[in-house]
Amino acid sequence: MSISKILEKDILSGEDIITLLSSRDENRTLLFKKSAEIKEKIIGKKVWFRGLIEFSNVCSKDCLYCGIRKGNKNLKRYSLSDEEILTAAKFAYDNLYGSIALQSGELESPVIADRIENLIYKIKALSKGELGITLSVGEQNPEIYQKWFEAGAHRYLLRIEATNESLYRKIHPGNKKHDFRRRLECLKSLQDIGYQTGTGVMIGLPFQTMDDLASDLLFMKEFNIDMCGMGPYIEHADTPLMIYAADLLPLKERFDLTLKMIAIIRIMMKDINIVAATALQAIDPVGREKAIKIGANIIMPNITPGRYRDSYKLYDNKPCTDESAEDCQSCLEARVSLADSEIVYGEWGDSQHYDKRRKSI
Ligand code: SAM
Repeated sequence: MSISKILEKDILSGEDIITLLSSRDENRTLLFKKSAEIKEKIIGKKVWFRGLIEFSNVCSKDCLYCGIRKGNKNLKRYSLSDEEILTAAKFAYDNLYGSIALQSGELESPVIADRIENLIYKIKALSKGELGITLSVGEQNPEIYQKWFEAGAHRYLLRIEATNESLYRKIHPGNKKHDFRRRLECLKSLQDIGYQTGTGVMIGLPFQTMDDLASDLLFMKEFNIDMCGMGPYIEHADTPLMIYAADLLPLKERFDLTLKMIAIIRIMMKDINIVAATALQAIDPVGREKAIKIGANIIMPNITPGRYRDSYKLYDNKPCTDESAEDCQSCLEARVSLADSEIVYGEWGDSQHYDKRRKSI
């Protein structure tokens, strides 16, 4: 079937998605034109900020791709103090960011759970309830997710990383701490509790096929996600997956595939929030702007205190690790306007999909 015919369809099959992912030249342009039109019609030219606070790189997991995995000894571990986290949140509030995202390595303990709960209350208090809070702190028990939700966190990002269970097993150690089923259950409990629920995958992983990527997108649609955050896989020298570096797609192709994945999910799920992932910028200096043009509507400016940024290296060549939060904001403003879009200040910019989904329950 021709690309134009596929782009007219209401529901895309796995085969359609593979055709779109393989599109080149004018067919690729048609795909991006369609996703950009949908974005403009449903979302407008707007982009919302989530001020990203990477508050700790301490992690109990050993994901084979990740630079902050427990087994990486070539890394200085840090955890921000409560005061540093609250100062960063206040910066976001004072600069009308609308929302923050708290992200860290994965740790499960009553002490950590209480600390995060407390921080959520304090961030709500310092912003008179106005700052929206996204969490991205991994797998936890449902009771913990519930406590944080009641404290005021209302969005949660938990990438499934790869929806093909056998691929998932190849990129994680084979033990209970890295259990595909548990990650899925966590996503389900987040959705049941009432979070705006976000997930995503890495694109260009070793062993990953076009079929896998098509299934990833079908999974997101079937799961009825509210937010999507996916980005290119970028190898990290101190990780076990590095041994496959020579077999990977060239970075430019991983980048291009990621843009296509974003365009296709925008076509499949017109009203969700889609993040322009920082990893795109590690490959192309204007990578995030390109993602905004063709479908993304969320950017996560890094507001982690500058001296810690170098230690939150998930992959090699991570951008903006030498900037302050102020630099990051002015740079992003210029970049977003280059993408013919405009940053909306002082608003949450919640997923329209979430509102509709909740009304239909
Ligand atoms: N541990 C939390 C979780 O998994 O929800 C959040 C922190 S984790 C470091 C954030 C994301 O970084 C992961 O979901 C993963 O997709 C991404 N990531 C890790 N290593 C990466 C790599 N080498 N290339 C691209 N993305 C990577």
